[in-house]
Order: sequence, then structure tokens, then C-alpha cells
Amino acid sequence: MKMFILGESADAESAATFDVANPATGDTVDSVPRGGREDARRAIDAAEDAFKVWSEKPSIERSRVLLKIAEHVRANVEDLARTLTQEQGKPLGESRSEVNSFANTCEYYAGLIGRERGAQTPFSTGEGFFIVTKRPLGVVGAILPWNFPVSLMGWKLGPGLAAGNTFVVKPASTTPLTDIKVANLLGKAGLPPGAVNIVTGPGGVVGEELLDNPKVAKIAFTGETATGKRIMEGSAKSIKRLTLELGGSDPMIVCDDADLELAVEGAAWGRFRNCGQSCTSVKRLFLFETIADGFVKNLVEKVKTIKVGNGLDGSTHMGPVHTNEQREKVESMVEDAEGRGAKDLVKGGRPEQKELANGNFYTPTILGDVDYEAQIAREECFGPALPIFIVKDLEEAIERANDTPYGLGSSVWTKNIERAYHAAERMQAGTTWVNSPPIARAEVPFGGFKQSGFGRELGIEGLDHYYETKSIQVLEYGKGKKWAFPIN
Ligand code: NDP
Repeated sequence: MKMFILGESADAESAATFDVANPATGDTVDSVPRGGREDARRAIDAAEDAFKVWSEKPSIERSRVLLKIAEHVRANVEDLARTLTQEQGKPLGESRSEVNSFANTCEYYAGLIGRERGAQTPFSTGEGFFIVTKRPLGVVGAILPWNFPVSLMGWKLGPGLAAGNTFVVKPASTTPLTDIKVANLLGKAGLPPGAVNIVTGPGGVVGEELLDNPKVAKIAFTGETATGKRIMEGSAKSIKRLTLELGGSDPMIVCDDADLELAVEGAAWGRFRNCGQSCTSVKRLFLFETIADGFVKNLVEKVKTIKVGNGLDGSTHMGPVHTNEQREKVESMVEDAEGRGAKDLVKGGRPEQKELANGNFYTPTILGDVDYEAQIAREECFGPALPIFIVKDLEEAIERANDTPYGLGSSVWTKNIERAYHAAERMQAGTTWVNSPPIARAEVPFGGFKQSGFGRELGIEGLDHYYETKSIQVLEYGKGKKWAFPIN
């Protein structure tokens, strides 16, 4: 496949390419251009020109284009989902749902744009009034991770295009293919050439050009906290606007009055969907001691039924870890916990089946008696291993849950509304789900506290992050005497 610049497929100026591997088989799915700084600059220039056209379109036209984009994406869901499974590894059902969520986001912002209301407010001194308006920012650099390459592109393009901005997208180097296919559908939906460009290539080159280039007004980034720190640093040179969606170590608290059947399902869904590689995966499970034994027994039974395999096989529940490097990180965290006395409630590891030998597979793992100082308790574990901690009450659970530099998601499971609200108000996380696994919704703002980032994607707040706020102050005729010069 090729990059997508100015509405057309494009090679890198250097003509260099790199392969994209299937994490389930190790086979090459396709190759893409190894873009360099000069390719990124070409895309940025294209986006800058397209901004003049796109930002001037009436909001109703932008809304129509977004609806058309959603229509084209939905019409191609099977093809897009298949490519996504091949390059990312997740089961086909999850890929379909991710592709559809891209369309949902476009539809949500198509509905929102043009329905916003502003206000005209009199000055407190009575000399006139002011109006607050919103202007698009310009060219946005969207830097994407590999865990949800399509839906997270939607979280940026949906509000950003609705607000009138244009984009240079830098997909993760291991998952550029589905994003390129989506970009090829945008022109058919009526998006002007150059309004969305995709440049493939290393983060340290293409990404760094987005940071360095003064024509880029904003960076919308999702990825690791360490990379987020570099993005902040690099953006400082031209004071770019930023939204950072970074890592998480999300706690799930199950109280003694929870619907335990539902909570077991929620824990399995929350930890093992996308092979545990969601920013809001359940990464630490806290159980009240009075319900712990029964809960663990049922969760273990449930998790033992998870079928690991190639995502293209319709019977697969969980695909491979995305890269071998990522798998090794998970392995080392599990070994570290075991070395500190953790008990294997479900012993995971590399599967023995011959047909899985070339993939980065790692079977579900559940650990009990985990030391609070273990890496898996202190750092983000981005894979299918779940540490369980036993707590005596809600206060202890909340204190433990908050004992992390991260603050992305969290959940509390209880039938008692007072308890739920108490926990939600005290958990230091951008979202607290009550009796629900971590499901993002287009209308609900999403983002982190603490080192999980700042700014919000989705919801009305997500749109706000693609605008500059402009104030217009109007002095009423005849009331200007107060500022006559010289000042007395
Ligand atoms: P990375 O931070 O490694 O990469 C994310 C993107 O940044 C990639 O496109 C990468 O390019 C690019 N990049 C790398 N270095 C630079 C640089 N110097 N300048 C500009 N861009 C750069 O994250 P992963 O892709 O490995 O994603 C996994 C991590 O992301 C996990 O820790 C997870 O928790 C977090 N995450 C957070 C989410 C959230 O919403 N909070 C959602 C999803 C993931 P390249 O691929 O070429 O290296």
C-alpha cells in the first residue's frame, strides 16, 4: 500500500518501504513507504492548503461529508475489519466493532456541528458587550498507537474535521494499513484533497517533523506516557495545542453487594478484550475479602474457556499480543510478580499448539497474592495478565486504586448508589464506570488525570479541543469616553 497525500496514493521520496507483519502468523501482510521528513512536509503543506477550503465550508456541508464518510466506512466494514485483524491481531468481531465505532464518531460529530450555541454578554461596566466565537486551529498532526488504529483515528478526525481543521495522520508503524484504506474512502465522501493525509514512517522521523514544523497547530496524540512526554517537549518550540491520551493502570473494585455474575463477565471483558491491550483495560482487580473466594473461582472458570487463536478464525476469542517485544514485557512482569510470591490462579504463557508457534500468542493469566510493589501493580501491563488484590472495604480499595501515577479509567461494582457515587468521586481517573466494563462512547468525554494525559476526546469537550476561542468586544456607540487618552 502507499501513503495518502493530497488525495492521492504516494510513495516516499526516498522510495524506501517497510513490511507490516501479521502478529498471528509472522507473515508479511503488505509493505508501506518509509516516509521521511520531506514526505511529512509535503503532507503538511497539502493540509495547509486544504485548510483554506475546508474551514470555509458551511458547517452543514462539513456535517454532510462526515455522514458520507461514515456511510462509506460502514459499506466497507468487512474488508476494513479483515485488514485490521491481519495487521493488529484482534478477532474479527472486535475489528468490525472498531470500524463501526469510527463511523459512529463521525456521525456523532456530524450531528453536533451546527447545533452549538454561543452567547452575547454585556460588559460588567455597561459600555457594550462581547461575543465568544470558535475558530478552527489549522493543521493537526494526529499520532496514533497500534492498539486501536481505526477508532482512535476517528476520535481525532471526527471532531477535528467537524470543526474545520485538516490533518496529517501518522499511524503506528505496525498498523498503517486499515488507516490508509479508510483515507482512500474519504475523497469519495467529498472531503477536499489534502484535508486528511496519511504519512507512514518512523515516529522518530515523521512524528518529529510534525512536532518541529511550525505550520502544525496542534498534536493529537495517543500512545505511551514516555512518548507523550517527548511530544510535550517537542511541541513547546512553536507552542502547539496538545491533547495527550496516554497509558493507564485501571482499577476495578468489586464490592460485597455487587452482582457477581455480571462483575465476573465485566472483569473478563475488561481485561482480555483486544488481548488486554486497551488503554482502559482492567489492569488491577480489587475484591472485597468476603466475596473474593467465590468470585475468583468463577472468574478462573470463565477465563479457562477463552480460546486463543488467529483473529481470522471465527471461533477465536482472543488474538495474539501485538508484537513479540510487547509479549516479552508481559512475560517479564508476570515473572517479576511470581518471583515476589504471586500465586498462578490461571497459569498463562506461550501456547504449545504448533499452528500458533509463529505468532506472538500469550494465553490468559490470573495472579493472586500479588505484592503491591510488583511491576504489574505499579506499571501499566499491556497484555492478558490480571493481578488480583484482596481488600477489606471500599476505603482501602480506593486508596490502593489511587496509588498509581496513572489516572485514565476505573470501575466500581455495587448495587448501592451511595457507595458507587462515593467511589466515583474519589477515584483519581478521567472516567469511572459503575457496573460496566470500560466502554467508550462517542458522546462521553474521554481522557486522563495525572500521567494519563490531558485534554479530552469525544463528547462536546472533544470538539472544543479543535477550536481556538476568540473574543469579540463591541463598544456601544457614544460610550467610549472612559478610555480617552491621556489616562487621568
Ligand atoms: P507509542 O507511544 O510507542 O507510539 C504511539 C505513536 O507515537 C506511534 O505512531 C509512534 O510511531 C509515535 N512515536 C514514537 N516516537 C515518537 C516521537 N519521538 N515523536 C512523535 N511520534 C512518535 O505507543 P504504542 O503505539 O506502543 O501504544 C501503546 C501505548 O499507548 C500503551 O502504553 C497504552 O496504554 C497507550 N495508549 C493509551 C490510550 C489512551 O487513550 N490513553 C489508547 C491507546 C494506547 P512508531 O509506531 O513509528 O514508533
